[in-house]
Amino acid sequence: YNVSDMKIITVIGSGLIGRSWAMLFVSGGYNVKIYDNQPGQSTKAITEIKKQLVELEEAHMLRGELSAAQQLALLSSYDDLSQALDGAFFVQECVFEQLEVKQSIFHDMERFVGKDVILSSSTSCLVPSKVFSKVQNRSRCLVSHPVNPPYYTAAAVMDTTHALMTKVGQAPVLLKKEIDGFALNRVQAAIIAESWRLVQVSVFWACGWGVVLRSQFFKALPTSSKVSHEYAFITFVFKCKKMLINI
Ligand code: NAD
Repeated sequence: YNVSDMKIITVIGSGLIGRSWAMLFVSGGYNVKIYDNQPGQSTKAITEIKKQLVELEEAHMLRGELSAAQQLALLSSYDDLSQALDGAFFVQECVFEQLEVKQSIFHDMERFVGKDVILSSSTSCLVPSKVFSKVQNRSRCLVSHPVNPPYYTAAAVMDTTHALMTKVGQAPVLLKKEIDGFALNRVQAAIIAESWRLVQVSVFWACGWGVVLRSQFFKALPTSSKVSHEYAFITFVFKCKKMLINI
């Protein structure tokens, strides 16, 4: 695939993450078809997205080259799975984080898409070998999460997904094999643990180092993981404050 020639992406599940992916893909100029198995839910999602796109535009924070109205015009909602998948080259699944639900939706999807269509999951902690266990052609499956790796995916599928994510302004990193937990969170945990140890042995003060972590280390990491970095930062400062109070 040349991702610039491809036009349609389907987002399955229109909760927080489905809406976020949809906004990201329209910012890159893609037509996005949103499907949810709760009737009317995908239509509500577009209403919600509209509010956010307008607010972002007013705040001069809208991504991409297109206006909010132009991005909104690229969105459509579906209560029917086969119609939602029609014409898509890439599908981003965003349903509940429950193994059976994900296995079942991927199994259903495969009936309606051609063999080259990329099936991508947003799973946060389920391993791909389980999520895609009911898919016949697994070489077109992968996890697209800021910190989760693809597994038995064909190289071309990873290349196309990498190009797509780059085109919509993400900073994708390819992982070579399946691993429990997120690679980025593992690295982040190591940094936090050593920082915490150095504070404990009085090498430096907690809050000053917390600011350094935030400004120098976390900013270099992918934007999409900002929330977890902020969480780690807050946890770090909270722990340090607790320790300082205990001194
Ligand atoms: P959510 O509960 O907000 O939304 C899930 C949506 O999926 C709902 O609208 C629901 O109606 C729909 N749905 C459920 N089963 C479906 C099915 N069979 N077919 C179609 N639609 C279905 O969940 P969320 O927070 O958006 O998370 C979605 C996925 O993204 C999860 O796998 C989650 O782990 C992952 N994720 C979440 C976050 C986060 O911070 N929330 C971050 C990264 C990844």
